[in-house]
Amino acid sequence: MNYTRRRFISTMGVGTVFLSFPGIAKLPQSLSPDRKKLGIALVGLGNYATYQLAPALQETTHCYLSGIVTGTPTKKEIWKKKYNIPEKNIYNYENFDEIASNESIDVIYVVLPNSMHHEFTIRAAKAGKHVFCEKPMALSVKECEEMIAACKKAGVRLFIGYRLHTEPYHRAAMQFRTSGDSGILYVQSEFGFKIGDPDQWRLKKSLAGGGAMMDLGIYAIQAARYSIGKEPVAVTAQEFKSDPIKFNEVDESMTWQMEFPDGHISNSYTSYSTPANRLYISADRRWFNLFPAYNYRGIKGSTSEGDLDLPQINQQAVQMDTFSKCIFDGTKSDASGEEGLKDLKVIEAIFKSVKNGTKVEV
Ligand code: NAD
Repeated sequence: MNYTRRRFISTMGVGTVFLSFPGIAKLPQSLSPDRKKLGIALVGLGNYATYQLAPALQETTHCYLSGIVTGTPTKKEIWKKKYNIPEKNIYNYENFDEIASNESIDVIYVVLPNSMHHEFTIRAAKAGKHVFCEKPMALSVKECEEMIAACKKAGVRLFIGYRLHTEPYHRAAMQFRTSGDSGILYVQSEFGFKIGDPDQWRLKKSLAGGGAMMDLGIYAIQAARYSIGKEPVAVTAQEFKSDPIKFNEVDESMTWQMEFPDGHISNSYTSYSTPANRLYISADRRWFNLFPAYNYRGIKGSTSEGDLDLPQINQQAVQMDTFSKCIFDGTKSDASGEEGLKDLKVIEAIFKSVKNGTKVEV
């Protein structure tokens, strides 16, 4: 196996990622046939929207920044000027539902604290708009199911902001198991960083739903699931706290082991205290390693056959273009609401395992 740049391009085109997706309205009602780009409204103008998504939307081919939803009047003026957003495409959280009649907005991108994903996805669906929703999809399996049902009922598409599903090094991780003899796979995935401000919403259970697990552990779950290519059947998890005051509401650090069908296993770690950033896959006489694995830029990889040399992409631009293309073409995405739901099932099992001190079936 040799993951050269050329091999990646020839074997991992969009055609290998997306399947035909019949039975869903191809285009939003507002989209006339001559429209080439979907209009996206960002909801929640915090760090991710400001420093990643809005700049990425200046580089996209199939979508553009057409509107914003914000509760902060000063941000409204800055964004309006910077991105030339017409007044009629600017909303706040109270008049958000009026977006239904705005023909320049086809997609609502929910970039709010985790606890608000459920409400705004459902409101967006009721307004007849497609939804891109940030990870974690919601706080519980029940909320995810309600979001999927609302989008289905409204005939709109739902995608989760899994930016690594379209990232070349992670596409290579997904293909590793089928690119040679695999035997029983062992995956080690870990993602953590040291979190600052003790007053931020990420440390409040009502807004975040959990701590490091909800925010960063979800990447390690994702990586194990797509490296092994199967769904875990059981998890055993452990929680560690070095600062019970700062982390009195949410988890600080966790380790967990997942058991998959056919004997494959993973061991993972997440933390808000200790940096960690790796994906390692061990197969029969072969291995695959990403370090750092989850950054926006500069992912590096190597395998038992040598260093990986794959394209560095603008992850957010490619993610939004790929979702938009799925809407235009009526094709399926592997970063759907159903995919977000699968992670929440695992996360609920992890929290239950910590609480009960036992192995929990997923
Ligand atoms: P942030 O704190 O920087 O921004 C949150 C935004 O929500 C702010 O504009 C804030 O004004 C608004 N808001 C509305 N009601 C609020 C409330 N009650 N409390 C706090 N803020 C409120 O957060 P962020 O880093 O931009 O994260 C937003 C979402 O994006 C999260 O779900 C996060 O998991 C996700 N995210 C994803 C990635 C990724 O790589 N896919 C990266 C960063 C964040």
